Amino acid sequence: MNLPNMKEAKIRTNNKVEHINLENNIPNSFEGKKYFLRTYGCQMNVHDSEQIRKYLEEFGFTVTEELTEADIVVLNTCAIRENAHDKVFGFLGRCKHLKREKPELIIAIGGCMSQEESVANEIKTKHSYVDIVFGTHNIHELPNMILEANKKLNINVYSYEGNVYENVKYSRDSKITAWVNIMYGCDKFCTYCIVPFTRGKQRSRKMENILDEVRELKALGYQEVTLLGQNVNAYGKDLDESYDFSTLLENVAKIGIPRVRFVTSHPWDFTDEMISLIAKYENIMPYVHLPLQSGSDRILKLMGRRYTKKEYLTLFNKIKEKIPNVAVTTDIIVGFPNETEEDFLETLDIVNKCRYDSAFTFIYSPREGTPASKIKDEITYSEKESRLQRLNEVINKYSLENNYKYVGKIEKVLLLGKSEKDNSKLYGYTETMKLVNVITNKDNIGKIIAVKITDAKSFSLDGKAI
Ligand code: SF4
Repeated sequence: MNLPNMKEAKIRTNNKVEHINLENNIPNSFEGKKYFLRTYGCQMNVHDSEQIRKYLEEFGFTVTEELTEADIVVLNTCAIRENAHDKVFGFLGRCKHLKREKPELIIAIGGCMSQEESVANEIKTKHSYVDIVFGTHNIHELPNMILEANKKLNINVYSYEGNVYENVKYSRDSKITAWVNIMYGCDKFCTYCIVPFTRGKQRSRKMENILDEVRELKALGYQEVTLLGQNVNAYGKDLDESYDFSTLLENVAKIGIPRVRFVTSHPWDFTDEMISLIAKYENIMPYVHLPLQSGSDRILKLMGRRYTKKEYLTLFNKIKEKIPNVAVTTDIIVGFPNETEEDFLETLDIVNKCRYDSAFTFIYSPREGTPASKIKDEITYSEKESRLQRLNEVINKYSLENNYKYVGKIEKVLLLGKSEKDNSKLYGYTETMKLVNVITNKDNIGKIIAVKITDAKSFSLDGKAI
């Protein structure tokens, strides 16, 4: 394999980001062996797992869903919530038991959690049966680490900010929709968020490389690409180039893949040009995920979110006004340290004004090392739970109300597979990202078809192919 030398990589300067083309040449040395891969967390991790899976499959491993059958177990972890730690270490207990019966089993842990120094130390001192700990910055080194596994615990987590790797190969989950990573890390440093620490500072890929990847996906028949990053609309700001996210989005749309999406956006970086592009191009989907986090100016300031309630509402209204039939979803955190009832009512107020299509709602979870985790919090957990419940009732009311507006309409739905709830139906998504369970012929998987919406629930629609 042509990889950067590990020792050299570790002492490289913190500031200079290099764009490195990967040339992988993985020996087929595990033919007949099985891998078990578990992914925790966000879309970024799901996409990273597609890269991990590609390496494992090139080695000759085949997938198993049965832990006891595995010859290698890879856990791709998440650090966003506090309970993620307990989940991963609980699962590791099962792996330890298995390794007693099968000493040649390789156990590897990667992802955001392994970037935390305390976790690496905990593994070193209490879980030395683990073979490999790799970070988010060096997934490409996993093959070398696997080849050297079972000699001693190999922890290789870069503490520096990481580079940009191009020509990464993936074993993608789907042959219909694909994630396309456009950047790594984040520079926003919201005070509650661990991401800038676990994934490093923002590093954008070069636009031509991204466009090549999208062209390749189009040639393979993909119907949808989602441009992926922690804060996609800040794309390019770290590059010494004249282009930005709007330039990239327009160029991707021009390639002509039927559906283009992007996630996630920060309201602070959302430009008028982006709004015009979504309105102009039929293949840029009318769906925007616009994280709010809180409706209180006091809390937004403590969170370091860089916008006020008024500025958020102005942006929201502009998006609604300029993009026909757009759906907007959001993220909201309740119970940020010392959030008062008045602060919470400000959040409810903005939710009542925006009437979101749906929202991911969370109770604030302190992450060690972040500024917010140092704030002494006087609010009880039961109060936070009660606020979450009150918030969810309002969110669900508007989700249902918005979904009912679709009943009787004809929507274009991209069908992805059999519905989990009812195997006689297929499931897919409207342009506005509404989940639809559709009565139709199973030959339609992978196609965009016209569907008449017959019923609505809070989290999905029912429909019939026409
Ligand atoms: S924008 Fe804020 S919340 Fe989002 S990844 Fe960056 S620091 Fe975290």
